Amino acid sequence: MSRSVGVKGLREVIMDTMEEARAEIKRLQQWVNDLQAGMYVNCVYCGHRYGPEMDTPVSMAEVLKQHIEVCPQHPLSSARARIAWLEEKAEVVHDCLVEGDTRQALTEAKLMIRGRVLARLTDGDLADG
Ligand SMILES: [Zn+2]
Repeated sequence: MSRSVGVKGLREVIMDTMEEARAEIKRLQQWVNDLQAGMYVNCVYCGHRYGPEMDTPVSMAEVLKQHIEVCPQHPLSSARARIAWLEEKAEVVHDCLVEGDTRQALTEAKLMIRGRVLARLTDGDLADG
């Protein structure tokens, strides 16, 4: 791009470029959808298979996204469990501080810090405490 532009002109050039990029992304996404329409797609974590003769109006990519939300073996599931556990502990720490029990707040905070090893714990361990 060799033309000389001011700040206002630069803004227009950026907006035009972004608009072109959005259109290209949309075109490529449709291409991916068309390619996947006649194929099976599998979850790489649990192997669940979808397609190609599905009754759903959504694309295969969208079907896979929806599956990831509920797949028990996807890393997102354990990440969600860890987040929920940490939020629960954070609330306990908050409550202890509000009640003036700084000793218990410190104990709970230490548990949270040690929570970095949670990835190695099972869901049963998380449920216990
Ligand atoms: Zn899965």
